[in-house]
Amino acid sequence: MSGYGASNIVDRLHPESVRVYLITSELVRAVHRGLAIKSLKQGDDPEAARRHTAHLDGLDWDVILVRDKEFRARSTPSGKIILHTGCFDLLKTDEEIASIIAHEIGHIVARHSVERNLYRRSWFPSCLRHYLLQRQELEADHIGILLLGAAGYDPRIAPATIETVKEKLGSRKACATHPSTETRLQLLSQHKVMEEALELYREVKANYSLCLTLRSMAASPEFGRFLLGE
Ligand SMILES: [Zn+2]
Repeated sequence: MSGYGASNIVDRLHPESVRVYLITSELVRAVHRGLAIKSLKQGDDPEAARRHTAHLDGLDWDVILVRDKEFRARSTPSGKIILHTGCFDLLKTDEEIASIIAHEIGHIVARHSVERNLYRRSWFPSCLRHYLLQRQELEADHIGILLLGAAGYDPRIAPATIETVKEKLGSRKACATHPSTETRLQLLSQHKVMEEALELYREVKANYSLCLTLRSMAASPEFGRFLLGE
């Protein structure tokens, strides 16, 4: 991984690496499901819904854990999430870590790196650059909260995690490119945004309990006898 020495990268078999890999896998599986459902609900036909996520098909999704005390996460356009171990000093639960990773996946889904390359050009007005970068962050928050719901994480963890980071970092700024905590919370607490994410979350949870019910039914002797027509 460019920019990081091999000795800084946490071994893939280390429990924390395995942990973030499993969380990322759940969120990546939710990308197509969550975004397709959202698109279909907006009235798109199935083909249009598929086109929304087609650019993600060839990505080489992965997560790399870097040993570093800084609270930092970033993503590459090829589908890699880079997470610093400093995140674990502030965030303890899988849900909180998922919230950070979901935001990064949001940047990849929205192809923000393509736009960022444009903003970096010398002729690009700097005042506009700042505004557009902040808008990207809010967009990543929005996609991130939907992914959390679609992956079966309670989406209410997203604003709670932003609050926790602010509380623990104190006066140190979480990230210079990010909008203020208040602006991010304002977006995530919008009824429409949260309700959309909660709807995905409830659907996933309902399907999961249906699976558990069917599994326990299938394991019961009564069900076996019913199948045999006894
Ligand atoms: Zn971001």
